[in-house]
Amino acid sequence: MDFIQKFRGAIKIRTDWPADQAAAGDPQGEAELTAFQDFLPRAWPAFHRTAERFVLCPYAVAYRWPGRTAPTGDSPVVPIVGDTLPVLLTAHYDVVPVEADKWTVDPFGAEMRDGFIYGRGAIDMKNMLAGMLEAADRLVSEGFVPGRDIWFVFGGDEERTGLLGARRAADWLAARDVRFAWVLDEGTPVAERYISGVECPLALVSIEEKGFLSLCLTAHQEPGHSSRPPRVQAAAILARALTRIDTHPFPWRLVPTAEGFFRRLSSRCSGGTAFLLRHARTLGPVFFRFFARKPSMAALLHTTVAMTRLFGSSADNVMPSEARAIINLRLLQPWTIDTAIKRIQNIIHDNRVAVSIHGMATEAVPANPEHAHLTGPGMAELMAAVNVVFPGVPVLPFIMTATTDSRHFQDITGGIFRFNPLRMAPGDLAGMHGHDERVSVENLERCRDFYRELLRKL
Ligand SMILES: [Zn+2]
Repeated sequence: MDFIQKFRGAIKIRTDWPADQAAAGDPQGEAELTAFQDFLPRAWPAFHRTAERFVLCPYAVAYRWPGRTAPTGDSPVVPIVGDTLPVLLTAHYDVVPVEADKWTVDPFGAEMRDGFIYGRGAIDMKNMLAGMLEAADRLVSEGFVPGRDIWFVFGGDEERTGLLGARRAADWLAARDVRFAWVLDEGTPVAERYISGVECPLALVSIEEKGFLSLCLTAHQEPGHSSRPPRVQAAAILARALTRIDTHPFPWRLVPTAEGFFRRLSSRCSGGTAFLLRHARTLGPVFFRFFARKPSMAALLHTTVAMTRLFGSSADNVMPSEARAIINLRLLQPWTIDTAIKRIQNIIHDNRVAVSIHGMATEAVPANPEHAHLTGPGMAELMAAVNVVFPGVPVLPFIMTATTDSRHFQDITGGIFRFNPLRMAPGDLAGMHGHDERVSVENLERCRDFYRELLRKL
């Protein structure tokens, strides 16, 4: 089986989560996740002969690839990894559900067309999982032994919460006293045409991650017949609250990671854009007004609030007992779950609207400050691998605005990188969680080559 065939085999296993099923315990869903775990040793046998494998549950499988050992006297081999902490590469094998009728191909057919392979998970993220295993498998076949232990953890519920997979694996590792020098997970790509005026692609390596908080806003009223509506209606109270939130965005803030990013970006462009980027802090409001027009930029510069769900009556002629809205916040430091809730309550300033946390909330994950300066654990190895596979492409520290499984490992590591070793133009990301998700064979091979270069340096 060649690499492309293995990757296509991975796509064909339906690890999607049907939206209407419980987070855990669905036998069919778990059977597919287990099928995926069972596929790995068949596809990458050399790696599996060398690495220790720990199947923790259908949602998590971990591997330890032992580092170099040296004989001491007549005692058996002793690991020499004591002062060189292991490294963790992590990925997820679950994928989001599909609207199959909106695809032009079978979402689980792994069809090849015009140099692309189509399928759910093609860029999020069976490509990375396959790339790292292919790289490790080949290195094992060539007799390569890493200088330290390398761990791999693959999770099966990242697209939900990661609590059944990555969280469980992190707890299991912590209980075994395993600590990591650094962790590499999915993240931001090698972006082409990131902003106008910047011609070269940029390797965006996310070194911090925004927090996640969904809030439920509820306004109550007496239920009844819609022919006799109350003078003040719950929907109107809720609408006023949402309007106040909309007109009072969280303040702009230039965190050190963003400041470093814009400064480095400035050296890649010229004219007015370069001036604005270079003097972001001193220009303050001018800078924010200019760059925050683009949602992807604004997301780097403040805590965002997305109004995602509204609920009211189930019938035209029924007054509901309550009107509800779900708003989803992405927390930029120093905002925390507590301070963000307080701010939302203060903005609404109406005790008829109850504010409660909806679902799982996670605090922002701070960067290792050294990483912002392109130093610190793992940065040199990562940059060297980028340099080989993407020659001339600069590495820029970045902020992950979405959440990743890597946050579950933050207490057992000195730093986290979130990076997709794929060249991506703006339109290429449309398939991620969308229709006709695809990866080019060229990108798939780059992905494998990146992990190979990285692993060879460890
Ligand atoms: Zn993903």
